[in-house]
Amino acid sequence: MKGFAMLGIGKTGWIEKPEPEIGPLDALVKPIALAPCSSDVHTVWEGAIGDRKDMILGHEATGEVVKVGELVKELKPGDRVLVPAITPDWSSLEAQAGYPMHSSGMLAGWKFSNFKDGVFGELFHVNDADANLALIPEGVDPVLATMLSDMVPTGFHGVELADVQFGDEVLVIGIGPVGLMAVAGANLRGASRIYAVGTRPNSVEAAKFYGATDIISYKEGSISEQILELTKGQGVDRVIIAGGNVDTFEEAVKALKPGGRIGNINYLDGGDYIKIPRVEWGVGMGHKAIVGGLTPGGRLRMEKLAKLVSTGKLDLSKLITHRFEGFEHVEEALMLMKDKPRDLIKPVVVVAEDLMEK
Ligand code: NDP
Ligand code: ZN
Repeated sequence: MKGFAMLGIGKTGWIEKPEPEIGPLDALVKPIALAPCSSDVHTVWEGAIGDRKDMILGHEATGEVVKVGELVKELKPGDRVLVPAITPDWSSLEAQAGYPMHSSGMLAGWKFSNFKDGVFGELFHVNDADANLALIPEGVDPVLATMLSDMVPTGFHGVELADVQFGDEVLVIGIGPVGLMAVAGANLRGASRIYAVGTRPNSVEAAKFYGATDIISYKEGSISEQILELTKGQGVDRVIIAGGNVDTFEEAVKALKPGGRIGNINYLDGGDYIKIPRVEWGVGMGHKAIVGGLTPGGRLRMEKLAKLVSTGKLDLSKLITHRFEGFEHVEEALMLMKDKPRDLIKPVVVVAEDLMEK
């Protein structure tokens, strides 16, 4: 089978590989729609998880089940499914302890395009299929549903990590597709003011659509200074970091009230340390919590998040700015993600012919 792969740090290309083999609990799936992610860009061009040779990329997909192992009960060939980016080993001790994303090692619930071939292949392997794959609900567009693999679960995880409460003032740093879903999640959780940081025009429009009350540009001065001015020196209750770099924590801590929480979902790709400002962190005693996490993954979460879409509470259409038709366009879509033109939020690639508009 054919797949679009990382050949080494900074190198990508099409490769041929044998079809993946499946065990008794696994499924073999073919993509019906795919989306590249900023994480693929960190992985290939920044070497953020180290080198990988001939590893098929991608972890955002919807698909059709082709084959299931003999112990799989809930799925059969032909089923159309939501594929979570994170596919934990649900029998692991880490999953039993409540951290499925770290099943079998830190971040090891993230398997596609990290420890094994990803979803940019003609076929891909899914472990623990009953526990990881969810049927695409009636009324949910299978192309838009690619946003349920990672963008929705990760953005919403930022909201969970920051523990947003009714009436909170929330700062969301970064309004790419992940940050936009953090804005939407904070809004659903009852945030009052939502300050969104970003500059790309489509993202700014989408942020307002998803519930941002104020837009801040990181290019026009320090984020924390702008927040302190807007909040009359008080700061915000919660910060979600979905963009920026190792220096962004400094801004987040400075913008946060004592007792507040920072939820980081940004993939940090450079530098050995992150910066925490000593004085604004209350010289170590400010009760300003900092938590960072990989989204949990798994079927229950996929089913619940998909219900927000099928009931009309979450509209995913504002995330997609570029639509490609045909598997071969995966490469172009990934390059868009790398180059981030000003009009980009997120590209999708439609693979199944019956879903193509042309
Ligand atoms: P994008 O690149 O599309 O968006 C990044 C956002 O951050 C943009 O709004 C950008 O602004 C803004 N930004 C850039 N530089 C700064 C800065 N110095 N200070 C403040 N804001 C800045 O990324 P995605 O939304 O696709 O992904 C966001 C992050 O989440 C990535 O690092 C990705 O790898 C990570 N991720 C994490 C996952 C997890 O499970 N934890 C899963 C998936 C992704 P502008 O509008 O000007 O471009
Ligand atoms: Zn992703």
